[in-house]
Amino acid sequence: VGRLLGIDIGGTKVAWALADRSGSVEARGRRPLDPSGDGEQDLDRIVADVEGLLERAGVATDTIDAIGVSAPSPQDPDAGLVLGPPNLPGWAQVAVRARLGAAFGRPVFLENDANAAALAEWRFGAGRGRSDLVYLTMSTGVGAGIIAGGRLVQGRAGGAGEVGHAPVEHPGEPCACGLRGCLEAYVGGAAWTKRLRRTAPATGRVAALAGGSQAITPVHVVAAAQEGDAFACAELERFNEYLARALVGLVFTLAPEVIVLGTIASAAGERLCFAPLREKVRQRAWERLARDLEIVPAALGEQTADLAGVCVALHGLAGDGGGAS
Ligand SMILES: [Zn+2]
Repeated sequence: VGRLLGIDIGGTKVAWALADRSGSVEARGRRPLDPSGDGEQDLDRIVADVEGLLERAGVATDTIDAIGVSAPSPQDPDAGLVLGPPNLPGWAQVAVRARLGAAFGRPVFLENDANAAALAEWRFGAGRGRSDLVYLTMSTGVGAGIIAGGRLVQGRAGGAGEVGHAPVEHPGEPCACGLRGCLEAYVGGAAWTKRLRRTAPATGRVAALAGGSQAITPVHVVAAAQEGDAFACAELERFNEYLARALVGLVFTLAPEVIVLGTIASAAGERLCFAPLREKVRQRAWERLARDLEIVPAALGEQTADLAGVCVALHGLAGDGGGAS
């Protein structure tokens, strides 16, 4: 019947979905990930979740063409291993492809979450029909997926797309990765949250919206900037400035048709983020590269969790990287 099974393993939740090749979802489930500290055990539980889904949906495994898994980096894409992502304690070396292949007897493809989300936005979201696209995740950290010439760019050992750690300042702020001046150290949710809690005026609007300095997140800065608060507007300007530096580098390197921005940028919206960002990029890139470039919010939102894994399966079946079990 041409079904695809997608599994999205995040730091806080796991989602699974059965869909056809048009992205139409037939059945789905999700729950908090709740890591046990033992990746093998967590994966066994995910297998049980999926078995439950197939049983309830009355779907036989032999009607599934492929299984696609989206999981955090680092990974060994050739061996199908997840190799100890910081937000998955106990997943030091988990053989995702082998375990799922043994459980379901179908081809399994594994991809990092940023690439998987980029594939989903490309197939079914803001980049539909394009052949050159860059997608930036923009949540706790900054990940990227790059489609160039209609192919996912994977790089050596799947290492392409680490735009979040390209320098935008030198020497710059320390980054969680150990380097300094990385894009993520300026616009990543975790880094920005830390800075805001340190620098936001204790009696200011941002702190008031958050109910105290120590509860501030980027959400409160966006809300305060919408009201015109000066501190919040300056923070958004800083966010746009550093993001623009990274985007200009991408424009000159890849000449994308569309740049799709996720979580924080999407939440900040047109007036606070996209309009000023486009203007900065236009000023700093050649006219012929910037003219028709679209810089737009991600379109899939919560649907990403359903479609990321499904798109990894589609991509794997198309033979564009990834391997069968
Ligand atoms: Zn870094």
